[in-house]
Amino acid sequence: MAARVPARANRDDRYFTDTFQYMPLDGYTRMFERILDHPRIRVEVGVDFFRVRHRIRAKHIVYTGPIDAYFGHCFGRLPYRSIEFRHEHVPTPKYQLVGTVNYPNDFRFTRITEFKHLTGQKAHGTSIVREFPCDEGDPYYPVPRPENEAVFKQYERLAKETDDVSFVGRLAQYRYYNMDQCVGAALKAAESLAARFGAQEPRSGDTVGRVHTHAGTGAVAALPGLA
Ligand SMILES: Cc1cc2nc3c(=O)[nH]c(=O)nc-3n(C[C@H](O)[C@H](O)[C@H](O)COP(=O)(O)OP(=O)(O)OC[C@H]3O[C@@H](n4cnc5c(N)ncnc54)[C@H](O)[C@@H]3O)c2cc1C
Repeated sequence: MAARVPARANRDDRYFTDTFQYMPLDGYTRMFERILDHPRIRVEVGVDFFRVRHRIRAKHIVYTGPIDAYFGHCFGRLPYRSIEFRHEHVPTPKYQLVGTVNYPNDFRFTRITEFKHLTGQKAHGTSIVREFPCDEGDPYYPVPRPENEAVFKQYERLAKETDDVSFVGRLAQYRYYNMDQCVGAALKAAESLAARFGAQEPRSGDTVGRVHTHAGTGAVAALPGLA
């Protein structure tokens, strides 16, 4: 895990060193609302894909959930790490010097993030979140160990044979992606789908995409040919 922790001998306190690092002007929620605001995209939140899959008649599905769940855990369960987020409002203008401080050893939580540093918001109090790692709850992180990779490879073989589904993202590709890598994987999948289905313009009034999600952001999208 230490491989993911950058060590610096300068005063750059950013975690990543990418040239461009910004928050979306109006925040992530608004950004995704705008991406999904299209007459041919329908979003259904709070819906478990497995509860509705029998009524999805799509030519192609983009699946972003855990890959082992898609195949009914037929080769066993892949471990995913989860996090319990404990939010707190503290009546002090600033709680810590920077946005995120890691606590790798001495506490049950691993990180404290103070959002004010990210948003530039001015207020008398401040909001922080502590992250407690756990193995139950929403799956967030794959657990990159050789034995898990071997199980994943079995699922990946099945996925490659499943021609009408694209498996995209951290949980479906069992990869430790950061956001930019996720976006890269999504664009790559989109390009290959456009090459495959691009010639088929939807008829007027067709729904081109339907997004189902547990929590509120993009999850399982069904492409042209939806009933
Ligand atoms: C605490 C934390 C901090 C992070 N910080 C950073 C950071 O600072 N910088 C950075 O670059 N990256 C960061 N990341 C990583 C980044 O958030 C992920 O790489 C990215 O969100 C993964 O996107 P994804 O679409 O692959 O998967 P997810 O965001 O996990 O999306 C998967 C979606 O599938 C949905 N889903 C799953 N199963 C079902 C089902 N059965 N039915 C319906 N919907 C389902 C889920 O609800 C979810 O919406 C962080 C991650 C975490 C957990």
